[in-house]
Parts: sequence; C-alpha cells; structure tokens
Amino acid sequence: MSKYILAQNNGRVIPLEDKIFALNGRAKALAAKIGKENVINATIGSLLDDDGKLVVLSSVVEVLKHLDPDDYADYAPIGGTPGFKEAIKKATFGNYKVNSYVEVCATPGGTGAIRNTISNYSKIGDKVLTSDWYWSPYSTIAGEIGRSIATYELFDENNGFNIGSFKAQVMNLVKAQGSLVILLNTPAHNPTGYSLHDQDWDNVIGCLKEACAFGNITLFVDVAYIDFAGEEDEARAFMAKLQNLPQNLLPIIGFSLSKTFTMYGMRSGAAICMAATPEIAAEFKLVNEFSSRGSWSNSNKAGQVLMSKVYEKPELLHKVNEEREGFRQMLARRGKAFEDSIVAAGLPCVPYDSGFFACVPCPNPGEISEKLEAKGVFVVPLGKGIRISVASLSEETCRKLPAIIAEVMK
Ligand code: PLP
Repeated sequence: MSKYILAQNNGRVIPLEDKIFALNGRAKALAAKIGKENVINATIGSLLDDDGKLVVLSSVVEVLKHLDPDDYADYAPIGGTPGFKEAIKKATFGNYKVNSYVEVCATPGGTGAIRNTISNYSKIGDKVLTSDWYWSPYSTIAGEIGRSIATYELFDENNGFNIGSFKAQVMNLVKAQGSLVILLNTPAHNPTGYSLHDQDWDNVIGCLKEACAFGNITLFVDVAYIDFAGEEDEARAFMAKLQNLPQNLLPIIGFSLSKTFTMYGMRSGAAICMAATPEIAAEFKLVNEFSSRGSWSNSNKAGQVLMSKVYEKPELLHKVNEEREGFRQMLARRGKAFEDSIVAAGLPCVPYDSGFFACVPCPNPGEISEKLEAKGVFVVPLGKGIRISVASLSEETCRKLPAIIAEVMK
C-alpha cells in the first residue's frame, strides 16, 4: 500500500531526508554552536580548501565571467554543441589515440550519462551490475526508471579486485537477462578510492569477452574523478583495453565536469561511446538524444561553451590543468596522511589509491557513525563501513582522524 497522500509509490522506498545532507546539516549546526575547530565534517562530496571553503578553479571562473549572453541564454543542441563534443573527447581521452567510433551526448553532469546508459541499454525490470561498495545514487537512478542494482564483491580476501565475484555475477545476469549493463567506477572509486590496476582490467575485459557470447554487454566506465586520480596519461592507460572488442561489448565513458572543472552546480557532463562499428555509434547518438529530449531536454549551454573555449586555447588549457594539478596534489597528500594513520591506528582498511573518499570497513557502520557524531565527528555510514571525505578535510585532520575512529571502534 502506498504511504503517500497523492503520489504513487511505484515500488520505491523514499527516505524522508537524504542521509548525507542530514548529516552535513547536523555538522554545520554543531559547528555554529561549539566552533568549527571542534567539529570534523567528513561528509561533504566536494573538494574544500584547508579553511573549509569550496575549491574553485580561478582560470575556469575567468572564462565564465567573459561569456556572451548567447553562450548561456540560448538552447544548446540536444546532443551538445560541436565545440563541446570535440573538447570532451580531448578531455576524456587525453593523449590516447582512439580507433573506435566515438560519439558524444551532452548530459546534465555524469548523473545524466548514467541515467541515459541504463535507460537505453537495459530493459525495464533488469538488474544493473555494480560493486558492493557503490555510490548510492546508482540505485536511485536505476529505480526511478524501473531497474534495480545487483552487486558483486569489490574486494577479495587479499584486498584485491575480486574478479571471481565479478565474473560469477556477470555470467549469472547476462544468461538470465540476455543483456547486461555494468557500472564500473574507476579510477578513484567513490566511496573507497580504489582504481582498477592493469591486471584487473585485463581480467575484466577477458571475462566480458567470454560473457558477451551470451548477450549484449554495456560497460559504463564512470570516470567522474579521473582528473584527481593521478598523472593524466597514467589515469587514462585503461582506455587501450577498451578497443578492438567484440561488436556487442560496448564501452561508454561517463564524464563529469563537476570535479574536473569544479563546476558541480553547472550540471555538465557527457556520455561517450567507443563503438566497434559506425552503425552502433550512430544508434548511440540517436537513442541518447531521444532519451535526453524526454527527460531534461537540452543540457546547460554555458558549461559546454566554457569547455570548448578552454580547449580552443592551449595556454588557457595549460592554466586550468596547472591549477587543478596543485589541488590534485593537495588531495593526494590528504589521502596519504589518512592511509598512513589508518595503518598506524591498526584499523582495517580497503585499498585507497586516490580520489575524494576513503572507507573504513566495520560490521556496525550506523553505530560507529553515531558514536563518532557524539564526539563531533561526522562520517557517512554505508552498508559495509564508514565513508570519510578526505576531499573536505585538511591534511592535519586526515592525519588525526583515524586515531579517533580507532578509539570509537574499540
Ligand atoms: N559518479 C560518481 C561515482 C560520483 O560520485 C558522482 C558525483 O558525486 C557522479 C558520478 C556524477 O556527478 P555529477 O552528476 O555531479 O557530474
């Protein structure tokens, strides 16, 4: 029975408030009461400086300030402006030369790319596969369009990528459904900070080549954090593995400008296919633009023009990259400080390579999170542990937090 007055339930369980926003709200209220120096708010999913202010790339802001009204007031083409499409390919692939057929569809952030991929490459009622540690909106997005999430275990007993679990689930689902969409968030996975290693990639691709004998497979690689995941070429090395695949194994890259250009609020991103044939690429364009039209219609034009302007001028691109690099290194120092202290505190861990978040596994995340809150420390409880946003804490706080967590876990 629906618990709503007029709205339809449609099988959804909608919490009365968003868990993360609620935690963040309580952290802010406590900071206002007892002083922000007495509160650790590790819930925020944006990069903050050491004073807790949002990091914004000034080179990007400069371009935004000089946009013409036409650049933001007019509609953008549904699939994105031509300049944006070229720029996004450069941003996604970097120096890597792609020999597949590439098509781009602009979307509102990486979120839109996830939505369009699920809606176009899975059927209503299907399960979409991702890892057991995952960004919770995956499940919301899938549920809103009549699909659900199935998971494999991300880590094996040696804290490596669990290819056995991945393979078992891929085979089960592709055989049962006749097709499968997989959401793979790497590098710098949210919430663990894990990045698939070279060997993991070989194993994943080997498995998918076998599995696509049983049905079409779409591999959505969510690279929302790629530009905070290590050196540019290194972070993109896996792209080579996504070429020369069977026709019915389609890689789609989900790119987000939220983190890369510190433009979370501009809602800009794209889905980019690496198709084996021109026909599959043309179909990608057709179905994605249709889905966009039927959900958000056109995407934000200002973000697209901004992106094309940055990529038109090498000196501007250099400035943006250089500025981001400083922040990437700041984030890397925080992550390293946190990891070192986790080990020193004797806490269990899951492997962190880079990115905005790290996790501490525990059997009772809700209880640990409540006990931490009582000490003025706000973290996000997940199914298998607690999530700490190293992106929103200073290096010093990253270093001292594990000891506090260890004390509470005792
Ligand atoms: N994918 C992951 C794993 C994320 O954490 C996020 C944002 O937090 C996104 C995709 C997409 O973000 P946006 O829609 O802001 O581009």
